[in-house]
Amino acid sequence: MKYKRILLKLSGEALMGNQEYGIDSQRLKDYATEIKKVVDLGCEVAIVIGGGNIFRGVSGAAAGMDRVQGDYMGMLATVINGMALQGALEDQGIKTRLQSAIEMDKVAEPFIKRKAVRHLEKGRVVIFGAGTGNPYFTTDTAATLRAIEINADVILKGTRVDGIYDKDPEKNENAVKFENLSFEEVFAKNLKVMDMTAFTLSHENKLPIIVFDMNKEGNLTRLVEGENVGTLVN
Ligand code: UDP
Repeated sequence: MKYKRILLKLSGEALMGNQEYGIDSQRLKDYATEIKKVVDLGCEVAIVIGGGNIFRGVSGAAAGMDRVQGDYMGMLATVINGMALQGALEDQGIKTRLQSAIEMDKVAEPFIKRKAVRHLEKGRVVIFGAGTGNPYFTTDTAATLRAIEINADVILKGTRVDGIYDKDPEKNENAVKFENLSFEEVFAKNLKVMDMTAFTLSHENKLPIIVFDMNKEGNLTRLVEGENVGTLVN
């Protein structure tokens, strides 16, 4: 196993599957199955999940809502997704804990770094909900922050695209995929890997990022075992 402790970042949108909104139960099950495979290998797994399938603060603001209010709604959306994923993982017999950056003790533990690490050491999957707990941030930033806090070996950003390309591969047929990039190259080529806050945080703390296709069966396992999947930034 190449990576002993990972932080898996899943976008909320990925959970929609082919739906327009909300959570696709089959997608949820598929993700739980993929995660179980690496847990069974002995990999310590922490997860941050987005909320874009339910609510995004910027969209609320665009529709005339207060941005901060919208961002808190977005953070709550990530807790809903976290609970859904927790349920799907527990259906597969995996022990989990949900920790929230906004306290809500009926459904989640508060985020406490030391407790999170202890859970991981005991083989529990830890899901971090409510982002960073602050408006104007994203779950990519939350994922990076938590990854650094828990000393994860790598942040694995599961997307529907199989890596980082020179142009948007969903819009350009001739887009070329990168196998490896340095942080400097990402800056120089102005590539979109994560938002700038998240990316800078990763860079400053030398946290490698792998962008990969989470919807392809076995990809997560291959990555953890050290195969070249997706694009590695380090
Ligand atoms: N959000 C926030 N602070 C955080 C993380 C998230 O305010 O630390 C809000 C923000 O409004 C964001 C929404 O939660 O739009 C959902 O998160 P995100 O857009 O990152 O989800 P994803 O794109 O991964 O589905």
